[in-house]
Amino acid sequence: MTAREKSAATAAPVRVAVVGAGHVGATFAYSLLLSGLAAEVVLIDVDEKRAQGEAMDLAHAVPFSRPARVWAGPLSDCAGAALTVITAGAGQKPGETRLQLAGRNAKVVRGVAPEIARHNPDGLILVATNPVDVLAQLAQEGSGLPTGRVLGSGTILDTARFRWLLGQHVGVDPRSVHAYVVGEHGDSGVPVWSSASVGGVPVAEFAEQAGKPVDQAARERIASETRRAAYEVIQRKGATYYAIASGLVRLVEAVVRDQRTVLSVSTLVERRHGYPEADGVYLSVPCVVDRSGVSGVLRLGLDDVERAALARSADVLREVRAGVERGG
Ligand code: NAD
Repeated sequence: MTAREKSAATAAPVRVAVVGAGHVGATFAYSLLLSGLAAEVVLIDVDEKRAQGEAMDLAHAVPFSRPARVWAGPLSDCAGAALTVITAGAGQKPGETRLQLAGRNAKVVRGVAPEIARHNPDGLILVATNPVDVLAQLAQEGSGLPTGRVLGSGTILDTARFRWLLGQHVGVDPRSVHAYVVGEHGDSGVPVWSSASVGGVPVAEFAEQAGKPVDQAARERIASETRRAAYEVIQRKGATYYAIASGLVRLVEAVVRDQRTVLSVSTLVERRHGYPEADGVYLSVPCVVDRSGVSGVLRLGLDDVERAALARSADVLREVRAGVERGG
């Protein structure tokens, strides 16, 4: 642990508020509890009974895990939280796209974001509810908090799936694969092949050496499996929650330990960041995440095909946003 991380880790008890104690919220709270990163975890849900039941069950796990106070409370209990994580709202039904959830979940986020900022003007808001990019942008605008302090979980999961599939293909630990999915968390997300690497070696070269070339067919398969992953899980078990919960805990760690970790999260992209085609849109590109939220945006080299795909992804998100404004 660096000195910077140490001082962050020994500060006041870390509170994390979870708005929406469903599959994702409760699983995230459980993973967070096991991680020991938070001393206080409050579950907030319109279904108060559900939040209470989850909080009781989680509290009974404390004697086996790490000391923490877990309770169900009103939205005002997000006061003082380092992060308020929004996992409230409907999930995809089998076959449904994330974007089809926009209208319903926009109402939820527009309802809670201003209240969170009112009770907790100094904390961060992390949105996981889908469609996460559009909703993170609505949360930022509705809360009035600076853009760096309102982020979406974005493509952390798509990036994890891409790295996992690449690792499987070339036969290495996915943690040794550096590769990102940028753009929308969803169907138009863009796997970036041009800068993907394994242990510092460009992935195409590494794959060639390993005798598992990433030819066009392999690329299409990996891209399609990355994109289809959530649909496949939802078709079999109705929802996805373990992987996103782990990703959210990783984000909490980067924040509360002030780690300056590079993660692909959804943030307000501006022309100056080097992605003119995505100007003004919340979407994922690699960002530096620390105690202040998103403190930097990396300018990832993209080839022409990737750049055109990112432009299309930004347009998809602009259209969904316009649809939400029309009430569609
Ligand atoms: P769920 O139905 O199990 O839980 C949603 C919870 O939100 C329910 O308990 C409900 O009572 C609560 N809720 C609804 N409106 C609320 C409000 N105004 N205030 C407080 N609580 C409210 O759904 P889930 O499977 O946990 O999914 C939650 C969201 O997370 C969905 O939008 C889903 O698509 C999304 N998700 C995102 C990712 C990602 O990578 N970002 C991954 C998986 C799921």
